[in-house]
Amino acid sequence: MSIKKIMQLIFATHNKNKLKEVKDLMPSTIKLLSLDDINFQNEIEETSATIEGNALLKANTIYKETGINCFADDSGLLVDAMNGAPGVYSARYAGPQKNNENNLQKLLFDLRNTENRDAHFKTVMALIIDGKEYLFEGIINGKIISEKIGTHGFGYDPIFVPNGYTETFAQLNSEIKNTISHRARALQKMLAFINTI
Ligand code: IMP
Repeated sequence: MSIKKIMQLIFATHNKNKLKEVKDLMPSTIKLLSLDDINFQNEIEETSATIEGNALLKANTIYKETGINCFADDSGLLVDAMNGAPGVYSARYAGPQKNNENNLQKLLFDLRNTENRDAHFKTVMALIIDGKEYLFEGIINGKIISEKIGTHGFGYDPIFVPNGYTETFAQLNSEIKNTISHRARALQKMLAFINTI
């Protein structure tokens, strides 16, 4: 990856895990700013009914606030046997408190009698450059196991085994997750695009 000129980009997230994952993949030519760096403390309400809509909403909020080029991601876990649920509601699956442990336990409970464990994570990254919007999607297919394993990562990582692997995202080291994850794939597409402008 060779971004030609140095550019400044805000990543519109308060999530420290996501920030670390994205920072690890950024070329040195992109100066990444977090919401803490720009002192934006508010929570942006995710009011859209789609992952795409929420990513755009977050990126647009920060672009309007700062006028600085920026991007935001929104992700969800889509379970085949549940017709794509929890999807856009993954963070609030067990209620508005957005508690990762409760979400994960509710999913294990809801799937307790379900044989088809196929699922995928999906990320949409919304990039705003000079007021223009661009969307990039990343997907990783896998399976939901029946109990938590592993301590790395966050969210549903301890119950998600990506296809082609035998360990959960919470067992795999961060370099592997960061190569194959939904977010990494969306980010790689976004960086390839930035490289062309
Ligand atoms: P968000 O709206 O993009 O922050 O993510 C929605 C939900 O999906 C949250 O509950 C996250 O914990 C979960 N999620 C997003 N990305 C990942 C991931 O990489 N691993 C596990 N869970 C994730």
